[in-house]
Amino acid sequence: MTCKLYVGADTGTRDRMGLVRVQGRCAQLASSDNDAAQKSYEFVVVADPQLGMTHANAGWDDDVKLCNAMVAQINARVPPPEFVVVVGDLAHAHRDIDGDELQHTAEAQHADFKRCFDQLSCATFVLPGNHDVGNVVKRSNVREYTDRYGDDFYTFWAPNKVWCVVLNSQYLVDPGEEQSMKEEHETWMKQALKEGVDSGAKAIFVFMHVPPFLRDADEPDLLETVSHWKTFAIPDGYFHLSGGIRRELLQLFDKFHVSAVFCGHWHQNNAPGTRYNNIEVIITSAACAQLSLDTKPGFRVIQVSETGSSYTHEYIEIKQ
Ligand SMILES: [Zn+2]
Repeated sequence: MTCKLYVGADTGTRDRMGLVRVQGRCAQLASSDNDAAQKSYEFVVVADPQLGMTHANAGWDDDVKLCNAMVAQINARVPPPEFVVVVGDLAHAHRDIDGDELQHTAEAQHADFKRCFDQLSCATFVLPGNHDVGNVVKRSNVREYTDRYGDDFYTFWAPNKVWCVVLNSQYLVDPGEEQSMKEEHETWMKQALKEGVDSGAKAIFVFMHVPPFLRDADEPDLLETVSHWKTFAIPDGYFHLSGGIRRELLQLFDKFHVSAVFCGHWHQNNAPGTRYNNIEVIITSAACAQLSLDTKPGFRVIQVSETGSSYTHEYIEIKQ
């Protein structure tokens, strides 16, 4: 894969970057191409802004307000993060979930998402969640997403030889009748992971919307626990990959020494240190609507060491 898309300012004076539209399945941060002395840096993971969820699509001003506050908070960090990844569910409304009559609502929510996140002063990558492409894969829905945002799966190099692999987890959740799209994603993913190892990546990070598991790699598909949304109880089985595909995926990640998988979808944080072998699974709670009384809207800051081979992370609440 030859990468032609360089993003970011390498001048030291950070230009406003905002949303990155990846095309050609790869990107490279300009700051990753620097032979100068490496330094520790941070990046940010945002999950599930899902504009519209708080008031069930009746309005999303409150969600926009929260996201604007978050963007200001991220932009104020010193030194600034190298990049942000929004791990899916950018907006709440989708015709396959809410019906055709909410198509205008979905478009308005995505426009507001873009307006808000384009104000971030570093390269901002996005990937699709189930609310962005529908629960069951359809080619037309993926095309609608790629028209809006660019590729739905891709790689990019971050500083200190950190290789980032960005997936569309809906191919793993339910490919529907789009078997060939699922296979294309899978073949590409294997090549992408191998490319990271072959290129001497110091760490490989995977970003995807739906977590492989919530608590334990061996947890059953049908979990006994539930998460609460207002008066509804949602079975936790909705929030992870089913066992067969989960096992295959984790073994693949293990084979290629993936360090961490960053996910969202659960609208709450998972327990720190949740792992499968050496792979940490890090679920970040939502930027807006929460499914746990214990979490407040927030984002996660990841600090990467100067060697690129280790990291720490912390969930930070949005100041309102
Ligand atoms: Zn989701």
